[in-house]
Amino acid sequence: MQYSDSLEKSSEYLRLALDHMGRHQIPVDPANYSVWYEYVSGRNEQLRLVIDWALSQSRSITPELNRTLYEKYIASEHKIIIQKIRQELRAVLDTLLSHITDSGSRMTRFTTMIRIYSQRLKEDLDTESVQAIVEDILSESRVIRRSGRMLKKRIVLSTREIESLRQDLDKIKQEADTDMLTGLKNRRYLTREFEQESERAIRDHAPLSLIIIDIDHFKRINDTHGHIVGDRVLKIAASMITECVKGRDMVVRFGGEEFIVLLPDTPLNGAAILADHICAYFKNMNWKRKDTGQTIGQVFVSLGVSEYRPGESLDSLIHRADEALYLSKTNGRCRVTSEASLKESYAAAGNRR
Ligand code: GH3
Ligand code: MG
Ligand code: MG
Repeated sequence: MQYSDSLEKSSEYLRLALDHMGRHQIPVDPANYSVWYEYVSGRNEQLRLVIDWALSQSRSITPELNRTLYEKYIASEHKIIIQKIRQELRAVLDTLLSHITDSGSRMTRFTTMIRIYSQRLKEDLDTESVQAIVEDILSESRVIRRSGRMLKKRIVLSTREIESLRQDLDKIKQEADTDMLTGLKNRRYLTREFEQESERAIRDHAPLSLIIIDIDHFKRINDTHGHIVGDRVLKIAASMITECVKGRDMVVRFGGEEFIVLLPDTPLNGAAILADHICAYFKNMNWKRKDTGQTIGQVFVSLGVSEYRPGESLDSLIHRADEALYLSKTNGRCRVTSEASLKESYAAAGNRR
């Protein structure tokens, strides 16, 4: 772990971290320490929330829990891989640098030698001396040529190593944006893409809409058929939603059994039509377990649709879609609600969430 706090700050964090560790009797090793360093410095929001919650429940932080927190919130798999890539890249660069330096100092030596010999050749030298100079220069230039060839090889090798590290980096970048279960993009990706899409919507005066989709009574599927079947349903649901979209439309798994579709160049009514289409697709499907052939019955979805208002945040756009989704749920599920009907529905029901 590398931190770049000032000496004063880091000493204060050190004191506070050790204080906590002493209180919870946590062995002081680098991993355990980094948990409390990140906690007291407030740099790791998630970690802080979890620890605060555990403490508020008067749960003690055991060394086991401390280790779990480290694995989950600090040494995530990606962080470990990136650290490894960084180390490997440094090793490649260091080796390359030492070869370049070697080759450079050889070159400097050779240059000096040539200068000296060139001066000496102005003198009245005998045959042996001139011959010695010729031999010397020839043998040194052979060394230089060899080291030049070695440097070239080394550069080719290092380039290959760096190329492969780049592929590793691309892969983890891809993985970090992907939901492992469904293969869809995740919330992190959506957050990043939304920045671009919303900017584009403002620049081009183009509409941008969002659909949030939540599987109805999904818990029942898990409870009746088990989590593995639940997972399969999620995977198939993901591919069904993906089948319904095209072009730059983006489907992401937003969380548990919730999906979001971001629709560039699409106004609210266009998004509502697509939402209806997705809803109907689920309605017309009969689900069966592949392993036992047992019927799962029908899996419905509820949907909420909203349209981007220039300048608003992703959270606020999702919030309106979520309110519309909530109405779909309370009005009987398996339906689409557009934000356009939010106001009327609230007025009619006389309630507000
Ligand atoms: P509603 O119609 O109101 O949406 O009810 P629901 O049962 O779909 O919603 P609820 O939020 O009560 O339950 C969602 C369930 O989804 C609970 C959780 O265990 C399950 N779930 C979340 N993520 C996964 C997952 O990755 N795999 C499986 N199998 N289940 C998951
Ligand atoms: Mg849900
Ligand atoms: Mg649900």
